[in-house]
Amino acid sequence: MHTETISIGSELTSGATVDTNASWLARQLARLGLAVARHTTLPDSMAPLVTQLRSLRTHLARPAVVIVTGGLGPTLDDITREAVADAFDAPLLENPECRKVIEEIFRQRGWKFAASNLRQALIPTGAEVLPNPRGTAPGFYLVRDDVHLFSMPGVPSEMTGMFTEQVVPRLQKLTGGTAVILERILHTFGLGESTVGETIAAHMTRGRNPEVGTTVADGLVSIRIRASAATETEALALLNREAAALTPLLGEIYVGSDDDRLPQVVARLLTARHETLAVAESCTGGLMSKLITDVSGASAFFIEGTITYANEAKTALLAVPAEMIRQHGAVSDPVARAMAEGMRSAAGTTYALSATGIAGPAGGTPTKPVGLVFVALAGPRGTTALQLSLPGDRDRVRQRAALAALNLLRLELLK
Ligand code: AMP
Ligand code: MG
Repeated sequence: MHTETISIGSELTSGATVDTNASWLARQLARLGLAVARHTTLPDSMAPLVTQLRSLRTHLARPAVVIVTGGLGPTLDDITREAVADAFDAPLLENPECRKVIEEIFRQRGWKFAASNLRQALIPTGAEVLPNPRGTAPGFYLVRDDVHLFSMPGVPSEMTGMFTEQVVPRLQKLTGGTAVILERILHTFGLGESTVGETIAAHMTRGRNPEVGTTVADGLVSIRIRASAATETEALALLNREAAALTPLLGEIYVGSDDDRLPQVVARLLTARHETLAVAESCTGGLMSKLITDVSGASAFFIEGTITYANEAKTALLAVPAEMIRQHGAVSDPVARAMAEGMRSAAGTTYALSATGIAGPAGGTPTKPVGLVFVALAGPRGTTALQLSLPGDRDRVRQRAALAALNLLRLELLK
């Protein structure tokens, strides 16, 4: 079934707010077997929205599902109701039930009733009201010419609640519950996207089910598996079979699936082994500690992190010999090792990680260019270090450095 989503709000087109509704909805719709064919983001402005909605009524394959979010507020810049009424020839009518609900909300919360809120009780003729227990703006469901239009508030918490409770059952009736699309993401670290693509090329032919593709995000190369089947059980079986075939091809670059990224995997391994970790950071400026403490439950293994930016701090806090820094420079293999070892003995942890490098854009030299980073791991089996030449801007260099350090630990824990 042709499926489209439309996000409405000038804060979205201007870039002030990130459109999280679109991605959330696309994933939810996929689970119902509805693949979004087009997504449009429009400002709070009548003409473009009316044009878009009219084109949906006249040009597309039917039946079609259109999910609209935003623009249902009480103020005059919220124009979704008016635009739908115009484009679908469904004049707005005050819905007495909605009016009662809105007045009741104001009474209960002790708010002064503003007449503008009655705009939210206006519903296109023939539309079904979708109640909104989390806010004042109800949504609505309108069917015209086999186009099924759902209009919901933009506030994500109100939208997701309304979608789950009101929209999903109606969509299931519409599709007859005949298709389910499920996705799984396999994260890898250590090889570029093209190399990963070559490794799994046989699985990436078009028109295949499950469909397999690669993406790069947040420093990880990820493999997206998308399976469609008649039931959730079948789709899940397809996903499991595909993942089981892919992971051996990936070997040690395979990190984990879905929410299991480097920090989560390292956290799980350390927690299971009752081992502890400390980090000594220079160029990453606390990013490693941030990534680790982003994981809920990190207190089970994470003891401390220090940011030793100046040479003196590396010497004072991590006992890196001043002579070593003079001789090799702060960005060097011996200093990275000495930082990790110094941190490990200061914190008394099983492992310590370190990173020292030149994040740029300034500070590079011909012998030590921007992007040169050393990460090291000190542990019970000794110390290992890695020299990296990382491309990209300051943010990317720092992120890749932090992830490379975590990956060094992950590989050690897998041994
Ligand atoms: P509205 O229903 O248009 O009045 O939206 C109310 C608020 O919800 C906006 O100010 C945004 O902060 C938020 N919002 C609206 N649409 C979206 C969206 N597509 N993604 C994320 N947040 C949104
Ligand atoms: Mg808005």
